[in-house]
Amino acid sequence: MFTPLDGRSVIVTGASLGIGRGIAGVFAKAGANVLLVARDQARLDLTAQELQKDASGRVATVAADVSVPAECQRIAEAAVAEFGGIDVLCANAGIFPSAPLAEMTEQDVDGMFAVNVKGTIFMVQACMSRLQASGHGRVVITSSITGPITGFPGWSHYGASKAAQLGFLRTAAIELAPKGITVNAVLPGNIATEGLADLGAEYRATMEASIPLHRLGTVEDIGNAALFLATDEAGYITGQTIVVDGGQVLPESPEAMAALE
Ligand code: NAP
Repeated sequence: MFTPLDGRSVIVTGASLGIGRGIAGVFAKAGANVLLVARDQARLDLTAQELQKDASGRVATVAADVSVPAECQRIAEAAVAEFGGIDVLCANAGIFPSAPLAEMTEQDVDGMFAVNVKGTIFMVQACMSRLQASGHGRVVITSSITGPITGFPGWSHYGASKAAQLGFLRTAAIELAPKGITVNAVLPGNIATEGLADLGAEYRATMEASIPLHRLGTVEDIGNAALFLATDEAGYITGQTIVVDGGQVLPESPEAMAALE
């Protein structure tokens, strides 16, 4: 049995949709007060209304862009104003527009790194002092299997940004350890988010067939891993990663999956 997170103050970036929404919902159901962050206020409001229905804690919102360091400060201040401090930062906001290497522009790379890497680093920096003050500060970064473990054509810059998050977390974990803050990451595989529906049933079936557990992940699967890393009982884990992918990275070739038939 884990110590309840009732009343803890949790920031989730990229929380209006997809995985961030799932993480926020899991924390809100667990009794935490959750600040949802994204750029579009209207979508944030809708998500907050829906999550509040099943929440035991409070759900609040702030519209902000994590690629701008001053906005990261504003997000941290909003959490303190709403909930009195910051116990957990889930640095989840990320983008993944694809671009083949041959056509990739400087703008493509800068845009990807501004959100995925700068947005992670400056969110952690903005929250550091409050996380230290909480006495059990937790940072949970949403990275990916793409980059740290696997590759996918069109996503070389995305993969680089997701691997960069892990390079950041290993030194951040050392620097923040004396402040009692742990820094860990969740590496999702293929997760069923709103965007997936656009890709069609056939695409989904092909993806499911390549996963040993034969289903896509849910946003709650990622939320549950993040919740574990935020518990008091996970307080001796820092600088680590948890892959949440249904075993997707395990088969050494398509034949390994075919041999299951
Ligand atoms: P998503 O459905 O596209 O949602 C992205 C969220 O981030 C939205 O709430 C979006 O809202 C917000 N956002 C985007 N840019 C932002 C910015 N500059 N500042 C603040 N908020 C911003 O994405 P997702 O699929 O859930 O992915 C979330 C994270 O999981 C990403 O880091 C991604 O790399 C990682 N991931 C996803 C998968 C997957 O299968 N989906 C797999 C591995 C890793 P606004 O547009 O209103 O800002």
